[in-house]
Amino acid sequence: MVGSQAQALLIRGGDVVSSEEVRRADVFIRNERIERVGALGDVTADATIDAAGKLVIPGAVDVHTHLDMEVGVTRSSDDFTSGTVAAACGGTTTVIDFATAYRGESLAEGLAAWHGKATDNAVIDYSFHMTITELARPADDLVAEMVEAGITSFKLYMTYPERLMVSDEVISEVMKAAERQGALVCLHCEDDATIAVRRAEALGAGHTQPRWHAQSRPPEAEADAVLRAIRLAENTGAACYVVHLSSAPALERVRVARESGLDFYAETCPQYLYLSAERYEDAPATAAHYVCAPPLRDPHHAEELWEGLKRGHLQVVATDHCPFTSADKRAGLAGGGWSDFTQIPGGVPGIETRLALVYQKVDEGRLGLTDWVDRCCTTPAKLFGLHPRKGELIAGADADVVVFDPSAERPLVAERLHMNVDYSPYEDITVRGWPSLVLSRGRVVARDGEPAGTPGWGRFVPRGPSGRLIDGT
Ligand code: MN
Repeated sequence: MVGSQAQALLIRGGDVVSSEEVRRADVFIRNERIERVGALGDVTADATIDAAGKLVIPGAVDVHTHLDMEVGVTRSSDDFTSGTVAAACGGTTTVIDFATAYRGESLAEGLAAWHGKATDNAVIDYSFHMTITELARPADDLVAEMVEAGITSFKLYMTYPERLMVSDEVISEVMKAAERQGALVCLHCEDDATIAVRRAEALGAGHTQPRWHAQSRPPEAEADAVLRAIRLAENTGAACYVVHLSSAPALERVRVARESGLDFYAETCPQYLYLSAERYEDAPATAAHYVCAPPLRDPHHAEELWEGLKRGHLQVVATDHCPFTSADKRAGLAGGGWSDFTQIPGGVPGIETRLALVYQKVDEGRLGLTDWVDRCCTTPAKLFGLHPRKGELIAGADADVVVFDPSAERPLVAERLHMNVDYSPYEDITVRGWPSLVLSRGRVVARDGEPAGTPGWGRFVPRGPSGRLIDGT
């Protein structure tokens, strides 16, 4: 009966990993919270978990997901139940999904829509960013309204003019408001002018296949947009976070901006660390599985991203989980089948596989254990106003805990995973290391990579100030 609320639970003898150290310790949990961490000797509990030989880490925090999101005539194939079940199986215990206020819609309406998708459906805790697609009211008012509702980060797009893109003036206004109110601006950085020209050229020449998706969104388009983001952050004094950074030149700009002292941050995603543009050379129906934006890059970019992650130039790994089934990819945004690369729903699955995929570099000795926890758990929680409630195993924190078995092997084939998608981008990889037990506020939500949670257990987490890496202690 492990995990019922009133019971005390002891995780004994594991190697507890934080973003700063590894130590042998016990973790004592009661009433959904961590009560003590240390050598707890003869403490008694209602249930004890033997974690000898295992790693005990904070539940991972995925700050970039798109669950149950409408795209054209289709929608991302994981809803808040299947998506959070899969997240839990892979060791993620908090997600921050992108709520969106489309043009003509108020932020409150957009937020209410996402609460409606998630309420009573999630097996782990969740929060939302708010995507702003126009300034119908002064930015200060919009930001204040969201901060009041526990939403302290905003997403703005520099591309997708049809539905999402905003001008640099709008970005600047939101940045100023966010800076004044302790919020963080997250930017999708791809220069739309570059993309528009290249796309028109490709289509004009009759190039319709998925490889032209990548050709029309080159690394330079990302680097140019990141540079604009840096200038805007510099001018406004705002903290800024680049989502899904995919390429070496963009990374270099982030590194320089950080060295100049800006509160400038960037995440990358497993697809950019593990996959490359070679996937676009597959048969069109298969290549379409890998259409995402930014696109997959040539392999040398991934090497640079791993190095940036190790050195801390990249602070976070998130997933941009946006799954579509093969049938949805094939049908295209308008249904009935796509006729060129612009009509393929963009996104790849990943909410379940992030923690283990990043761990592979630890297993190879190329990334520290503490760096792994920092980039997947602690820094995302700190940057997005969830810390110290999430992202760290300390007294008073929510008992979101992963017991990670470093010797468990798992082939990342679709049949062994729980995302609602019929293919896996990583099917040729068998990872070493997988969560053997995952707790959300003291409740078991996954065991040996299989679901054990209950829809509705997960709650909305209102967030505190975002955008500064302040030590929570
Ligand atoms: Mn995204």
